[in-house]
Amino acid sequence: MRYESIKAKSLLSKRITADPWFHIHHSMNAYRGCQHGCVYCDGMAEHYHIENFMTHIKMKENAPEILEKELSRLGCHSTTQLKNESLLNYLDSEEANRIEERLPPCPVIGISGGVSDAYQPIESKLKITRRILKVLLDFKTPVFILTKSDLVLRDLDLLREINELSFANVVFTITLANESERSIFEPRASPNPSRFDALRELRENRIHGGIMATPIIPYIGDTCENMTALAKAAKESKAEFIQFGGLTLKPGRQKELFMHVVRQNFPHKAQMISSLYSNADYYGAPIYEKLPVNVLVQGYKICKQIGISDRSLRHVRPGQPEMNTIVVSKLLDISIRMRSLGYQYHKIKPYRDAAQRVEAHHGNIKSLLENEDADLMSVTPEIRAAIHSITKTGSCQILDDMKSKLDSLEDGCY
Ligand code: SF4
Repeated sequence: MRYESIKAKSLLSKRITADPWFHIHHSMNAYRGCQHGCVYCDGMAEHYHIENFMTHIKMKENAPEILEKELSRLGCHSTTQLKNESLLNYLDSEEANRIEERLPPCPVIGISGGVSDAYQPIESKLKITRRILKVLLDFKTPVFILTKSDLVLRDLDLLREINELSFANVVFTITLANESERSIFEPRASPNPSRFDALRELRENRIHGGIMATPIIPYIGDTCENMTALAKAAKESKAEFIQFGGLTLKPGRQKELFMHVVRQNFPHKAQMISSLYSNADYYGAPIYEKLPVNVLVQGYKICKQIGISDRSLRHVRPGQPEMNTIVVSKLLDISIRMRSLGYQYHKIKPYRDAAQRVEAHHGNIKSLLENEDADLMSVTPEIRAAIHSITKTGSCQILDDMKSKLDSLEDGCY
């Protein structure tokens, strides 16, 4: 394993709006490359220009300092800095609280799960992620973490404080309930029981959290037995949700390594899996019509049966009316249900666009709807009616229809 310290020049991704999966606004990586070595990892694809992804780890040791600067540029304020500037020191605590309340809400930052795991083994020594969490705490910034390591528990104290002041959502990726199969595909990540135990401990400390069951590997992980076991274990670990998703295999390094491991360990399934990805799609999408199971539909059905949500929760940003968040969530929910049902992108996109417009609006949504000149007027009458209905009843016919369609589909369990 080769480790190299590098200087980051910038850290935060471009603004993400209305993210339907984790509801983050920016992502960042303190590391480039990941020692966990998952054989299905998208991060190793040529697309990301990271050579020797699993054996050469680059560490951005100046990441916390860069993050401070970038959060300030986004209009977030460091509590320490405010105190140092002695603005708050001269005020009584009530007045100080009022000033802090008027400060703009900070975006949700995803600090792990992009092209590296923020809790990979070297983090136990370097503590870059821990320093990043201290910055986020100081800036009262909500955080999202996607990891395969129970090392995240080391930072329980900071996560608890962040969650009390803003929001912390810690999600563990777990895709195969069978531990021996899991170790084939994720050789250096924490074993499943450690991840479920870590999730339970976080939840017992009132930190938000759930399971990301992605990628579900066709012909291996998409059995009813595996998906049901994951959903049951998630519920037993007090997860707030479990989200299922499929496997993408980008042509090149990612597909080659994955198929090599499948041929060695599941030789009787290799041909079937390979043919699903024979289209050489740039983004690694399979030939959907050939998939043995639609895991989004199957995940929805299993979650409903077991009594756990199949959708991650959304943070209500301070200063933004809660109803706006509900509307954004429901519009994104419609878009995901449409996707599960195979709707074409041009039908889904207007719902994503409307969610983006509502998310960008910081005032009351009712006033936006009542204002004939509002930008929201450009959405279709159907979406406008859906928004009206959500604001009045909390639900809408389109979403109910989508769920009825999902309920009526044949059970794809095998
Ligand atoms: S933990 Fe995530 S980033 Fe790391 S190798 Fe596995 S899939 Fe890739």
